[in-house]
Amino acid sequence: MRILIVEDEIDIADTLKLYLEKQGYAVDVKYDGNTGFSALKLNQYDCCILDLNLPGKDGMEIIQEIREMGNTVPTIMLTARSQIYDKLDGFKYGADDYMTKPFHLAEVVARIEAVIRRFSENKSIHLQVAQYEVLPHQNRVMENGKSIELSTKEMRLLEYLIRNQNRIISAEELLEHVWDDSVDMFSDTVKTHIKTLRKKIDPQKQLIKTVKGKGYGIFSET
Ligand code: CA
Repeated sequence: MRILIVEDEIDIADTLKLYLEKQGYAVDVKYDGNTGFSALKLNQYDCCILDLNLPGKDGMEIIQEIREMGNTVPTIMLTARSQIYDKLDGFKYGADDYMTKPFHLAEVVARIEAVIRRFSENKSIHLQVAQYEVLPHQNRVMENGKSIELSTKEMRLLEYLIRNQNRIISAEELLEHVWDDSVDMFSDTVKTHIKTLRKKIDPQKQLIKTVKGKGYGIFSET
């Protein structure tokens, strides 16, 4: 899961980034509205945490403009406590949730999980695939009563493939969503992680298919 934080208060932004990275998210940070807006246009995020008052475009303009462009990224708006009416405007323009500053870090994670879950439930995807029950927050997969531990990256990778099943997903797209800006786009990172993931849960390559020259995918049997 890849998250964008747009927040000009550097302390808040960086603390949040560190905390979310510890939870296994890939996190990009932009400290002003214009670069935040560009990042949203350029990359596909699974969630955006958007401050309301920003230098450059403010949070309200950003949410309004990306929604007009058809971008549905689940977005949590950050506001100061005194800006209750702005919050309501935020909803009108398409924010999915809001949080007032100061907030607890654990609460942010809960909110992120909730908006991402709502978003994927809307797309009616479940984290049950073939004989596997996937427990993303425990980094665990259950297969016929047997528990298999995954690393955080392996889980994020699997989760992304499941949430986007029945289509071919390129290595570039996986890098975009599961890793962050600092990953080397020309590395074998995806290949290596697919390999270790298969070794743990799918040695026969029944679940995760390689589509030669195109990417990977999980295809449910029809
Ligand atoms: Ca601000």
